[in-house]
Amino acid sequence: MMAAGRAGECGARTLLLEKMPRLGTKVRITGKGRCNLTNIASREVFISHFGPQGRFLNNAFGRFFAEDLRALLERFGTPTKVERGGRVFPLSDQAVDVVIALERYMKAHRVEIRLNTPVRGLLLRDDAIAGVQTDAGPIAGRTVILAAGGMSYPGTGSTGDAYPWLKALGHTIHPLRPALVPLETQESWSHALAGLTLRNVRVTLLVNDQKRHSQFGEMLFTHFGVSGPIILSMSTLAVDALPEGRVQLSIDLKPALRDEELDARLQRELAEHGRQAIKTIAKNLLPQRLIPPVLEQAGIPPDKVAGQITAAERRRLAGVLRDLRLTVTGSRSFREAMVTAGGVDLNEVDPRTMESRLVKGLYIVGELLDVHADTGGYNLQAAFSTGYAAGGAAAERARSMAEG
Ligand SMILES: Cc1cc2nc3c(=O)[nH]c(=O)nc-3n(C[C@H](O)[C@H](O)[C@H](O)COP(=O)(O)OP(=O)(O)OC[C@H]3O[C@@H](n4cnc5c(N)ncnc54)[C@H](O)[C@@H]3O)c2cc1C
Repeated sequence: MMAAGRAGECGARTLLLEKMPRLGTKVRITGKGRCNLTNIASREVFISHFGPQGRFLNNAFGRFFAEDLRALLERFGTPTKVERGGRVFPLSDQAVDVVIALERYMKAHRVEIRLNTPVRGLLLRDDAIAGVQTDAGPIAGRTVILAAGGMSYPGTGSTGDAYPWLKALGHTIHPLRPALVPLETQESWSHALAGLTLRNVRVTLLVNDQKRHSQFGEMLFTHFGVSGPIILSMSTLAVDALPEGRVQLSIDLKPALRDEELDARLQRELAEHGRQAIKTIAKNLLPQRLIPPVLEQAGIPPDKVAGQITAAERRRLAGVLRDLRLTVTGSRSFREAMVTAGGVDLNEVDPRTMESRLVKGLYIVGELLDVHADTGGYNLQAAFSTGYAAGGAAAERARSMAEG
């Protein structure tokens, strides 16, 4: 939508082909229906969220960044607001308003929109793009912008259609993996906690007992394992580490307390409530549902009274509060992954124009590219910025071809 709008704005006769019955099916469900469309972080910080691949986006962000996106949406009737963590949402809290603004942008620049029209393949003449194939026959075009998305949440229309076409043209497709995806865990006690959210915890990813990554924030237990913001954002690291051996999550339930402070706190609780069962006292330290598994792992009978808890038991309890372990067995599928990791090799795409270095006139944007970030509005901005760059460049190429 952004690429088509920009191409139209730059004077190109533009046709948008969408296979679904309506525009922006995925955008409508982003940010839990509110669409976290970008972030006000500086360009440098923004790019760091994509890891080393992020440098590829520098040029596209230089052309069209968060403030440009916000101004464009406002111009077409969707003002935005900034929330915690610099996240930007429509003022209305309605993701659909982002789609409506982009539709207005396209209409303002006479983009023709054809819904229910799946593209089936690409047409080439010599080494350059010549159009696309549809069920209704071929459609000629001087340039083609591929914005077919990744393969996560396939119900939204993003079913990975474009990867085989690009592969057939000689593009390298890095292995596609679900990213920003809930993780499955081995321990049945964790499944029994489904629905429990832990706030202000620190989760450390351990690969064969070596620390790989650590993050502070909110997580959630599910009937198959764990999810929530910090789990999603470390999910790719966890998934990619699985072939290396044992992958575990260590949850620090009391990250604000140093070891001595935690021990002092436990001593105080036990001394103050010497006649109460440990399971009752634990309510001062833990969410109710977490008490049985924590005590079990610490090897303390839940009905034991505080006055009889030994120093060794107290230390074991502190140990579990500091390091509640879960074993990662896998991730949920693309069906539940917010983004697709892997994709078209970035060396094969011109970062100024998004044009394929292998096929003239073919532009590749958004999640198809081998670049993705954690949550916070970064992924959508990357899709919008690469789309904008491609729209302008494709219009320019079409014009120069028309001029002969
Ligand atoms: C549940 C969920 C929540 C998310 N929340 C956020 C968020 O708040 N902030 C954020 O930054 N990112 C979020 N993301 C990620 C973000 O939505 C994607 O990274 C982004 O939409 C990618 O944009 P895209 O244009 O590359 O692809 P898509 O948005 O996937 O669009 C691709 C379009 O191409 C169409 N298409 C595919 N194949 C064909 C074909 N053969 N012919 C014709 N049309 C075709 C599809 O129907 C679709 O409309 C979320 C993702 C999910 C799944």
